[in-house]
Amino acid sequence: MKQARVEDIYNILNDMAPFETAEDFDNVGLLVGDKEQIVNNVLVALDLSDDTIEYALKINAQLVVAHHPLMFSPIHSITMDSYEGRLIIKLIKNNISFIAAHTNMDKSPYSASWQLAKLLSLKNTSMVDEYIFVGDLPEPLSANELCLQLEKTLSQKVVLRGDEKHMIKRLAITGGSYSEGFYSAIDAGAEAYLTGELRHHHILEANSLGLVLFEGGHFETEYPMVPNLTECLQKDVNALELNVRVFSSRLS
Ligand SMILES: [Zn+2]
Repeated sequence: MKQARVEDIYNILNDMAPFETAEDFDNVGLLVGDKEQIVNNVLVALDLSDDTIEYALKINAQLVVAHHPLMFSPIHSITMDSYEGRLIIKLIKNNISFIAAHTNMDKSPYSASWQLAKLLSLKNTSMVDEYIFVGDLPEPLSANELCLQLEKTLSQKVVLRGDEKHMIKRLAITGGSYSEGFYSAIDAGAEAYLTGELRHHHILEANSLGLVLFEGGHFETEYPMVPNLTECLQKDVNALELNVRVFSSRLS
């Protein structure tokens, strides 16, 4: 077994979902820390929060890999007076490096949308609009029946917007927040669209065009990527014979 450095984990993530494919507005890659730092334990999470850092300390992780970035908007100071400042200071004080893999992950086969499509056993799937997965349900369901199934899959209350009796065969999915994705869902022939957060004017427009919408929560529709990424990362470090254990956190 070989010792791993932060850079080794970065390179594996870059092979899975190249960081250069992230959107220009995004902030991904090694955002805090040292690429030469030795890593034995890695924590994968959706968000970097106080609780995530506490958990990283508990399992003695030297690196946190999270979906949502820090410093998404430029910051001009790192002090204890801001939420983000406190997180960055806590990482540095505890010698924990931080990698964000955001829109690059969303565009990869490790995306939340892809994992949701797998959990729902969608067939004939394809990716549209870079972020959306569309596919056929194993059997057509009424919007109401599908809503109940989504609630079971996500372990979360799902809000149905549209005609409860509308029969759904083709479902489009984007984990997280992509309300405007409903246009692409219609273009891809979907009768319904699931995402984490919806804007009111999008609901009105989509419903007027006959599309049923499901709002499943930002965290809950993205979380399925975490256990999958944890498993895939562990397989890859094992294949390279690196002495690393990968943990996952459901904390946000
Ligand atoms: Zn998100």
